[in-house]
Amino acid sequence: RVKREGRNDLRFFTAEMQQRSARNLQLVSALRQALERGQMQVHYQPQFSQQGGRIVGAEALLRWHSPELGQVSPAEFIPAAEDSGLILPIGAWVLRQAARQARLWIDAGLAPLVMAVNLSAVQFRQADLPRLVTQILDEEGLPAEYLELELTEGVAMHDPQGAIAMMNSLHERGVRMSIDDFGTGYSSLSHLKKFKVYKLKIDQSFVRDICTDPEDKAIVGAIIQMARSLGLLTIAEGVETAGQLEFLREQGCDEMQGYYFSKPLPAAQFEQFARARQ
Ligand code: C2E
Ligand code: MG
Ligand code: MG
Ligand code: MG
Repeated sequence: RVKREGRNDLRFFTAEMQQRSARNLQLVSALRQALERGQMQVHYQPQFSQQGGRIVGAEALLRWHSPELGQVSPAEFIPAAEDSGLILPIGAWVLRQAARQARLWIDAGLAPLVMAVNLSAVQFRQADLPRLVTQILDEEGLPAEYLELELTEGVAMHDPQGAIAMMNSLHERGVRMSIDDFGTGYSSLSHLKKFKVYKLKIDQSFVRDICTDPEDKAIVGAIIQMARSLGLLTIAEGVETAGQLEFLREQGCDEMQGYYFSKPLPAAQFEQFARARQ
């Protein structure tokens, strides 16, 4: 009986895998075209200081509306871009767009605003990443301290020694780094201490039930305490309600980001939104 179930599982699994890889091929060829034809967009989600009034940063989030496939979520196309290597040109493009936009906003007199850009593990493993980042910043005229690179825990923990070296090199060039989705990976605290990061982004899965789930309350409280004793800032992602905001403030979380404040917005709308709050 066990054997038969096992075989059925296997058949099911294979069919699903085949479907997935067909979809993947479709995504990869559409992505390649999208990049060539300029069909991708970057949206920006505001990040707020604890008091809630002031915008201190923006997270650049890639958006893709494919003529054939419709709106595709980054959760689906980023992995396909990573597998195919397309994440390198796509990632460089996002970095350039975001740097250019940040420069425009500085010139337009929007409050000092740090631009956070998500970095894929694949990009992070490229030895010439620091040179590329510096080149883009130079060409777009953005001082390095206005750029923050978001890394996930997995990126950093996969090869801690390599990660430490890469972070040191980016840090020397003046770029800030944060750990995204903090709490979902396997952070070794002893490594965290050596990482040149300045901010932890508390994953939205812990924030969601923060008002009702005592364990999530405890986890978020502990992350904020630990960050503070390590001299790191904290930002909570996925803040959707006033209740969550209140709890996070009480705990001393430094910054917030989420639908409660604003969804990710096209550049022009972000600017309007920010001006209305100046
Ligand atoms: P992330 O970096 O953790 O980004 C946060 C995600 O949460 C974004 O989803 C954002 O739209 C969403 N979000 C923000 N506030 C709320 C909220 O209050 N409630 C809920 N439920 N969600 C909220 P998005 O834009 O779909 O991106 C998903 C993931 O795709 C990102 O997670 C990031 O890992 C990746 N990604 C997006 N753009 C890029 C990019 O340019 N490069 C790379 N390498 N990855 C990217
Ligand atoms: Mg992020
Ligand atoms: Mg995140
Ligand atoms: Mg996340």
